[in-house]
Order: sequence, then C-alpha cells, then structure tokens
Amino acid sequence: MKTKILSALLLLCICAACSSVRITTTAHVDAASKPKKIIFLIGDGMGLSQVSSAIYYQDRTSSFERFPFVGLINTSSAKQKITDSAAGATAFSAGKKTYNGAIGVDENAAPLTLITEKLKAQGLSNGLIATSSITHATPASFFAKADQRKKEELIASQMHTSAIDFFAGGGLQFFNARKDGKNFLDSLAANNFSIDTIAIKNKLTFNDKTRYAFPLAANAMPPAVDRGNFLADATTSALEFLNQDKDGFFLMVEGSQIDWAGHSNHAEYLVSEMLDFDKTIGLALDFARKDGETLVLVTADHETGGFTLSASEGDYNALSPTFSTGGHSATLIPVFAFGPGAEKFAGVYQNTGIYHKLMSLMQPDKTIR
Ligand code: MG
Ligand code: ZN
Repeated sequence: MKTKILSALLLLCICAACSSVRITTTAHVDAASKPKKIIFLIGDGMGLSQVSSAIYYQDRTSSFERFPFVGLINTSSAKQKITDSAAGATAFSAGKKTYNGAIGVDENAAPLTLITEKLKAQGLSNGLIATSSITHATPASFFAKADQRKKEELIASQMHTSAIDFFAGGGLQFFNARKDGKNFLDSLAANNFSIDTIAIKNKLTFNDKTRYAFPLAANAMPPAVDRGNFLADATTSALEFLNQDKDGFFLMVEGSQIDWAGHSNHAEYLVSEMLDFDKTIGLALDFARKDGETLVLVTADHETGGFTLSASEGDYNALSPTFSTGGHSATLIPVFAFGPGAEKFAGVYQNTGIYHKLMSLMQPDKTIR
C-alpha cells in the first residue's frame, strides 16, 4: 500500500516536473511565435450571416473554413450602441472608441496615433486596399485624421505625409479634381509615390523610399460583378511589394461594398461581394501559410442590413436571404485569425481589443535572447 502511495507521489512529482518544463517551452514558443507581418482584412458590414452566405452560396470550400481561431467583438462606438464605419475603423486603427463619423480622432476630435504610424516608426511598411474610394471612412481611418468622414478632400490631402507606402482603390477625384483647385497627385509624386491611375502593376521595386499609388476610379471602384479581379490583383501586388521589407509589414484590405449591398438590401450584390472578398482572403491565407511569419485577421466594423438566411416559405431546405433594416445593426461580429499570435484573438471582447492585441504582438521584443 505504502509503495503504491509513494509511487503515485513520485509520479505526481515527475508530472509536475514535466509540466513545468512544458510551461517553459510554451513561453519560449510564444516569444518566437509573434508575427512580423499582418494582413488585416475588413469586410465592411459583414456579420455572421454574410459570412455564412459565402459558405452556402459557392461550391468551393470557403476561405472562412480555413481559420483555426475565431472570436467575437462588440462594435459599439463611444456613445452609440450601433457604430458607423468611421468609429468602427478608428477603434481598429487607434484602439479608441470614438463618435460616429470620426476618422482617426478621439471623442473630442483630437488626433490619435494610428497603428500604421506606430508600425512605420518600428521600420515596417504599410499598405491599404479598398473597393471604395481610398478616402472613404474605413481606409481613411488608417492614414488620416478628420472630424467628419465626409471631408474626403481633407482626407486625401493627408496621404502624401501619411505612413502609407502602397495604396489601391478609388478616390482619384479627391486628389486631382478638388473644390480648392489643388492637385494632390503632385504632392504624392513629390513624396516618392509612383502613380498609376489605369491599372495595378506587379513586380514593384522596393527600397526605403519607394511608394506606390493606384487610384483607379474617380470615386468608388465598380461593384464586384464589373470590377474583375481588382481586389485579388491589388492584394497580390501589395504582398509582393511589402514583403520585400525585411522589417515586416501591415496590409489592410477592405471589401468595402459588402456594406453597400446591405444598405440597399440587395442579396445578389451582397453575395457577389462576399465571394470576391472570400477569394482574396484565400490569397492572404496562402501567402501566410507559405511565409510562416504572417498573421491573417478577418473581421468587420459592424453588420449591415440585419441580414439573415431564413427558410423560404417554411421550407427548411430553401434559403431566403432577408434583411431587417437599411442601416447597421449591433450584432456581435466574428473575428477569424490564422498564423503566429492567432490564438490571442479568440474570446469575446470590444472592437478596440483588435488594436491592443495587435500592438502587444508587434511590440519590439525587449527580452534578451
Ligand atoms: Mg468601409
Ligand atoms: Zn454602412
């Protein structure tokens, strides 16, 4: 009997030793499994039913099914339960809840320090891609400060001095056909941007100064059905360019028009935008899987349309995409994560948590190795 207890005790000791060894190993792995590169994909207005539509409305396996970690965020803005895209994106880009309409500024309209600015200071390069104008609320919140989102000319005037090295999307008119007569394409060019307003280019050269601008439409890019392969091509080009930075990069890619389809309660438009976005997520995941140092995050600023996949006339085998509002809703939003640090994005938390988790992962490592 005594021997039995003794050996049980001995076994316990060994296990304790094992687990303490295991703890040390895990800590070591954690330190080493920080990402160097971030691909942050935002589906504007993309709630869980929108994500579900990308699973139900295609024959291929959706990219969403490739993520090992999923979380949920509360997207409420500083004073309103239902956010707009400006406050929603500023929560991601600056870690602060602010008022609806605010671009990179706090509740008192004071400028915030953006994630792109912080990462640039650490030597990383930054890219922004959107299917709206690049000066629209979501992408704007990653490079500009404005008290109102509708001031797209003011927002455009801040691009050349921003921390952005690559951008692609619409919004040309806010640079070169302005009410004040100024031409900010000239300012871009004077600040090392190579500009192409016709098409995305590949094999872009990289050095400490090179920057690229692809403002390809006067205002928004066309809807997915008329846009061709823009979102995927721009993402491929950006990844190829940014990946030449040995210090790493931050790339934000927005499926902007998922939101617009929701506002217009247009299910076909919505599904086509979701499938376009889904394909681009697949590209990002392929890159990250090969690369090993890239964190891919997919989420949304809020849900739009109160979209749901209900049963058509009670037939539980026939989906009927339906909407409950022409505006946004307060439903919690899924966060999908893949790559080093992905496990940190599981759980239920505030939208500002995205910024804080990213910054803690990207903090320069102060521990001596
Ligand atoms: Mg947007
Ligand atoms: Zn919206």
